[in-house]
Amino acid sequence: MITASPHPRLSPPAPGWRELWRDAITDVGELLQTLGLGDRTDLLPPDDAGFALRVPRGFVARMRHNDPADPLLLQVLPQRAEHDRVEGFTTDAVGDMASRAGHGILHKYEGRALLIASGSCAVNCRYCFRRHFPYAEEIAAASQWREALALVRADPSIRELILSGGDPLALATHKLEELTRGLSDLPHVIRLRIHTRLPVVLPERIDDTFIDWLAALPLQKVVVLHANHANEFDAHVDAACARLRAAGATLLNQSVLLRGVNDGADALAALSERMFASGVLPYYLHQLDRVQGAAHFEVDDGRALALVDELRARLPGYLVPRLVREVGGDASKRAL
Ligand SMILES: *Cc1c(COP(=O)(O)O)cnc(C)c1O
Ligand code: SF4
Repeated sequence: MITASPHPRLSPPAPGWRELWRDAITDVGELLQTLGLGDRTDLLPPDDAGFALRVPRGFVARMRHNDPADPLLLQVLPQRAEHDRVEGFTTDAVGDMASRAGHGILHKYEGRALLIASGSCAVNCRYCFRRHFPYAEEIAAASQWREALALVRADPSIRELILSGGDPLALATHKLEELTRGLSDLPHVIRLRIHTRLPVVLPERIDDTFIDWLAALPLQKVVVLHANHANEFDAHVDAACARLRAAGATLLNQSVLLRGVNDGADALAALSERMFASGVLPYYLHQLDRVQGAAHFEVDDGRALALVDELRARLPGYLVPRLVREVGGDASKRAL
């Protein structure tokens, strides 16, 4: 006999982060349509300059409608200007891409080793060096991790392991678990740092499994978010940040100074205030890596310094990021 279930019918489970990732918008026409800009054929670039559009729908939902100058849209929309060839803008702006692709681990700065844990990203940012390295998808595969961990193991000066990419949180949590299991018997490594844009562009990534892994790690934990504008934060991002903090992570943010996106004192001050409301402290404000196809985002050093001076006059010191540039061969990021 079939009886009525005593329980109300369960609603279908919410899509997991992988489904949301796959469901990202990759078509420029669809993106413009979604934002009410479908008739603006002038915004359609001739092509994507070899670097595809990719943006999760949740991030698109934070863009203003009918605004081609929206600061979130400008970070992801391919533009004609990407075809401009500008002196000094190269395909290997930081100068270490060869080594990045080679063994997946960079030991440039004292006490810190950086592992390119994944070449994938949930979003393709137009200003990123990654636009020239599609093969980055291949790097730091599991076998190379063993090699990388052997390097960390053999060097007791390494206090901190930095997971970078691409985006290290593109990896499944069980992969991260596998990676950090290899650290558990290394007394000299006291800290794990994760550089990621995922808690901002796809906050669903910070799910129960991930939080369980992070909370159980017997290390100091730092998560450096990569947000460039206050509008990137919403209630979902706040929730992801709260979970990360509850799991014991210190939250910092690193931004890139981008013309048209955040190159005003109001925008930068609002970004600092908004991230702090989510429990995140500003860390670095990066001058753009001089990557071919990104010249239209550049802000000159004089203006950058003036902007940070204005921030210093307006905000408590802890809300003022350090203005830096990465210069190949330096012993640290170079302060401006
Ligand atoms: C930026 C970077 C680091 C981290 O530098 P911090 O100043 O500690 O944030 C470490 N290793 C490499 C290779 C880097 O590029
Ligand atoms: S590495 Fe960071 S900046 Fe570059 S495309 Fe990925 S998320 Fe964007």
